Amino acid sequence: MPSCAFITFGCKINQYDTQAIREEILDLGYVESRDPSAVDLLVVNSCTVTERAGEKVGEKIRSLTRKNPAAKVIVTGCISEDDRIRLEKIPEVVHLIGNEEKHRVAEVLQGAPLLEKKPRRNSRAIFDLKIHGFEGRTRAFLKIQDGCDSFCSYCIIPYLRGGSRSRDHEPVLQEARRLVEDGGFRELVLTGIHLRQWGLDRGIEDGLARLMLDLRQIPGLDRVRLSSIGEGAFTDAFLGAFQADSGLCRFFHVPLQSGSERILRRMRRDYTIEDYVAAMERVHLQLPGSVLATDVIVGFPGETEEDFQQTLQLLEQLRFVKVHLFPYSPRPRTRAARLDDHVPVEVREQRMIRVRELCQRLQQRELERRVGDRVQVLIEKESSEDRPSAAEGLSREGIRVQFEDLDGSLRRGTEVEGILEQRNDQKMSARIVAIGAGEGLQR
Ligand code: SF4
Repeated sequence: MPSCAFITFGCKINQYDTQAIREEILDLGYVESRDPSAVDLLVVNSCTVTERAGEKVGEKIRSLTRKNPAAKVIVTGCISEDDRIRLEKIPEVVHLIGNEEKHRVAEVLQGAPLLEKKPRRNSRAIFDLKIHGFEGRTRAFLKIQDGCDSFCSYCIIPYLRGGSRSRDHEPVLQEARRLVEDGGFRELVLTGIHLRQWGLDRGIEDGLARLMLDLRQIPGLDRVRLSSIGEGAFTDAFLGAFQADSGLCRFFHVPLQSGSERILRRMRRDYTIEDYVAAMERVHLQLPGSVLATDVIVGFPGETEEDFQQTLQLLEQLRFVKVHLFPYSPRPRTRAARLDDHVPVEVREQRMIRVRELCQRLQQRELERRVGDRVQVLIEKESSEDRPSAAEGLSREGIRVQFEDLDGSLRRGTEVEGILEQRNDQKMSARIVAIGAGEGLQR
């Protein structure tokens, strides 16, 4: 039987899409191998969010095909024009399939031609990709939205993934039932490029709150989590859903990007600092115990020391536990790349060091504040030979937690209740007070 391997770059949506493609290709009779340097078929789901990310895709394929020149390579995902030119030069790459035909990878592999007239960028065919499990994971990602209407000045995504489209309510519920009933998943993570836009193209306002509560009606689905979400999502209905149901995880990853109003306008973000602060303060007030995470771009064109200071101040004020830092790098064909006041590399690097130090301190402070909290943790790593008597998992609030597991009884996919005791770097340790009724993953 022919063998295959899958390599995924980029976001959670890509991980979802790879899983769906994997299932279709395995249904054709391929056998998955863990060693991509010795397979007949390599499927690469690419990301080009930065220029460097696009280059890495080419480098990875070249290094694998040098070891395995007989492999056929299919590249799909966010392939920009630049990547296309770069990848077409690699003889092993037999197909380059953009996001608009990503749902046809298995068909193309069987000999169907790529469409001469490409579907509209806003085609809903992307939702033809479906999953039944999630390889190697305790929590499954469930895609409910794709594309983006926002056109932030530094971002290429709307050009590569098209406008925002929402997957319909019922297919989302059906897929969730499959993942819970057949896959044994007790937590689902709703993903999208811009989750807050879910439902808007179908004329539904505040639909996300309803969708999450409906998902929680599925027997066995204990936890529903959101991947990153815009500040505009935090309406009364949204916050009310979290207040009503403790199975909706109080972990919110809300991209800020900059604490300077001036820079936000240059980024063309669709909120003000005032909107953002008000939303995060509502979370702290109405959903106590929530963990906040964010993204920050450091050294955006025109960012002065004062702008940067405003970012530092806001990170401290809003009590983020996790901050994902990205040094700005120009993405060709975006508005920001054409701005002329780029921040010198040394200044950007210095700011990265300063903000990283602050974030470490913030994280320590916030985790220490939580000592004594009662948390529900989904076990992701069982104790093993290399980690005897130690199990690890994720709390509903998104905190990594370690437990002593002296008799090795804690099973992956089981939820346990514990009291947080102390911080070990980016994790907390906890004392178990109850073990949930779950039976763990069936795989
Ligand atoms: S919201 Fe902005 S940064 Fe996020 S995907 Fe859309 S355009 Fe890109």
